Amino acid sequence: MHTDRTVRSTCPYCGVGCQILLNIKNERIIRIDAPFDAAPNYGRLCVKGRFGADYVHHPDRLTTPLIRKTRQKPGQRTAARYPDDWREATWEEALDFAASELARIRQTCGPDAITSNACAKATNEDNYLHQKLMRAVIGTNNVDHCARLCHAGSVTGLQLAIGSSAMSNSIAEMKDLECFIVTGSNTTETHPVISTFLKQAVRKNGAKLIVIDPRQTEMTRFATLWLRHKPGTDTALFNAMAHVIVKEKLYNPDFIQSRTEGFSEYIESLEEKTPEWAEAITGVPADDIRRAARMYAQAGRAAIYWGMGISQSTHGTDNTLTLANLALLTGHVGKPGTGLNPLRGQNNVQGCSDSGGLPNVFTAYQPVTDPAVRAKFEQAWFAGHPDLHLPDTPGLTVTEMVDGILTGKVKGWWVMGENPLMSEPNLRHAQEAVEHLEFFVAQDIFFNESNVYADVILPAASFAEKDGTFTNSDRRVQRVRKAINPPGLARADWEIICDLARRLEQKQGRPVSAGWDYRHPSEIWEEMRRLTPAFAGIDYDRLEREGGVHWPCPSFDHPGTPYLFADQFPRGRGRFHAVEYGTQSELPDNEYPFILSTGRVLYHWHGGTLTRPSALNDIWPECTVELHPHDAARLGLKTGDWVDVSSRRGKITVRLLVTGRSPEGTVFIPFHFAEAAANILTDNRIDARAKIPDYKVCGVKIERAAAPPDRPGADIPLEERGAIKDVAAG
Ligand code: SF4
Repeated sequence: MHTDRTVRSTCPYCGVGCQILLNIKNERIIRIDAPFDAAPNYGRLCVKGRFGADYVHHPDRLTTPLIRKTRQKPGQRTAARYPDDWREATWEEALDFAASELARIRQTCGPDAITSNACAKATNEDNYLHQKLMRAVIGTNNVDHCARLCHAGSVTGLQLAIGSSAMSNSIAEMKDLECFIVTGSNTTETHPVISTFLKQAVRKNGAKLIVIDPRQTEMTRFATLWLRHKPGTDTALFNAMAHVIVKEKLYNPDFIQSRTEGFSEYIESLEEKTPEWAEAITGVPADDIRRAARMYAQAGRAAIYWGMGISQSTHGTDNTLTLANLALLTGHVGKPGTGLNPLRGQNNVQGCSDSGGLPNVFTAYQPVTDPAVRAKFEQAWFAGHPDLHLPDTPGLTVTEMVDGILTGKVKGWWVMGENPLMSEPNLRHAQEAVEHLEFFVAQDIFFNESNVYADVILPAASFAEKDGTFTNSDRRVQRVRKAINPPGLARADWEIICDLARRLEQKQGRPVSAGWDYRHPSEIWEEMRRLTPAFAGIDYDRLEREGGVHWPCPSFDHPGTPYLFADQFPRGRGRFHAVEYGTQSELPDNEYPFILSTGRVLYHWHGGTLTRPSALNDIWPECTVELHPHDAARLGLKTGDWVDVSSRRGKITVRLLVTGRSPEGTVFIPFHFAEAAANILTDNRIDARAKIPDYKVCGVKIERAAAPPDRPGADIPLEERGAIKDVAAG
């Protein structure tokens, strides 16, 4: 079909960062394809990238600022219904209200009584300004985002081991891999285009793939070896692999001697961690552990890729440390085709962290506790006002924000583009917290389960309606381009933030700090670039010419860094860590005998805010629970039966999928469906260091439901529900 124009941009879904072409006709996106000559996807797209952006034109988009008609009281806050409980407002009125309330809380309770969620779906420029507002205008480091809920275990573990938490090697290296481990990642469904390169390495180059996962993902069909360990026993397995590597002297002595520290103490800790010891814990045959260890260690080059199955755990930091130990033992890091590679989830979760959307760091992980770093940002943001200073103590994480509201420490919350009441664990706990807020301002493109509790909603532009940059999982900064206008009065996040910042400063009677008068996101990037050595060589002109650049890129004549740590680690030497097996997770018992693991399906995205209002919802329209055939037979259940799944925190009713994909004793529920939200069941205990909750292990029970739930589609047989029938058919 003829199009009016084609605009190159970046996919708004996952961290692969596929380049897309938005074909526009009559101011609507009518087709999405991919340029064949552009990294990282070279013409490849998954179903979400190709067909999932129709949400942009959905009639439910927020198009005007909204203010609650009735003032909400802490402890009595309720979900608003549209349109009854809202009134439309002008931008001036809505921003003025938001600024007045935030300024009032700051004045009466102090800056740390306000917290915010930055947004891993928004651009780097949006997030840079978000954290700048929190730090420079409010005066708190209470800014965090959903990275806390997906890869905080990876971030903390990698920071301890090597001093850097980003994916070390590039997507471009994947098709030429020699040997690689995929663990805790259902790559074909969560990072589909990356999975095509990984499968290409196996099929075309004969690469050896070791899958380590309790769940039978599609990647297991391509694996030389699949270790199906019991959920939550990761550290025992990785420690036993390290034991084999040490005992059989398969380690790399030169690398250990020149690039690492703590080796002697570490190998002492491995003495008892034999494959037989691990077999008793993990259920994986000892000989398979030996084979995996030899395969990985003896390869000329070998890489490790992992997902939320490793990080979303009360011991996510330990899981990551034991993986890092393997790479440090073998020297499989700092070279092409190797590395420690956490596959990042959201399209810009890497960039949101890079842009300072974290409670302890400014851009590119410059610590808020470092006086020299603070002085640099103060000079840039408070030029001419030497009396103004930035806060020097790390702020609250998103999990701590929820508890902070309940203890009365936190009064006001600004949520930009996130949906905590779908993504937080133990949703009842999170909901109780939201109900106790004094003031809640939300900024989003749709109503969602969280912002219906807000006092004011600021309507934002989607990815297709604004300019900026996203940074993908392999640290490649890429352009996002405005292809169409936002609907109604919706505005780009960066514009909203600038107006809010100016008003806040006026309300507080403070001088207007530097900035807030940008004319284009390129000017925001320019400010960030000047303050961030890792981005110093990247500007919009270069991104136009080259398509994307991997940070760190310290100067304009630097080529960018597709793989990290060629010469040294950011912490100097890589540090081995002794890790003892143990868990703080809620394990199954007589009352709740199954382990619940949560995750994604190919056709949906996280809380479903974008994919439920998309054609993708027709392909996978409802929540299901996977149950192993042996367990189903014991319970007298079959595919399509309605079942109640309960934990100590709540109950949901869903249809059953009997499949061997999950092991006996473990059930799997995707977390995209508000009407059966998996996080009603999950537990809010966290990894003590990373503060990440455990979304992969908690105890649940399954019982036949008394009746189907009263919701649309419940009367349609499961076999007629889109692609679900393919899984139901095995
Ligand atoms: Fe988009 Fe990820 Fe699919 Fe690529 S793999 S098209 S980035 S969702």
